[in-house]
Amino acid sequence: MAFIADLAAYDYYPVASEALAVGWLDGAERFETGACPSDVTERLKVLASAPVRLMRGYHYCQFCEHSAPPPKLLRADINLYEAPDVPRGNGEVWLTSPDGTNYAAPVLIVHYIEAHAYLPPARFINAVRFGVPTEGLS
Ligand SMILES: [Zn+2]
Repeated sequence: MAFIADLAAYDYYPVASEALAVGWLDGAERFETGACPSDVTERLKVLASAPVRLMRGYHYCQFCEHSAPPPKLLRADINLYEAPDVPRGNGEVWLTSPDGTNYAAPVLIVHYIEAHAYLPPARFINAVRFGVPTEGLS
């Protein structure tokens, strides 16, 4: 999964709508930690249960991946490895805040909040509470 700094322009994959990135964490980069309000976490869970922009394959949590055992080699001739047994997600959560700003987060953001104490930016928390799912995505 590509690292994008919080509130930087979302550029993970070409898309027509502009958005600010939130929650595109990377094992090598520091991130804000703290207590995310539970109503925000709960709404994100609902949104993450119907993700948009599904990709081929999964994003894996790099923080859990570092402490997991190495993946088992299934077939050396085609470099096929067993999927690592770590939290993963496929797809994104997009929100449009009342001021019209779009935010794009990976579905793993819920795991980052619950397992790694990630605290999203206040503007994003506001968008989760008062925004709506961004229209025109599938
Ligand atoms: Zn994790």
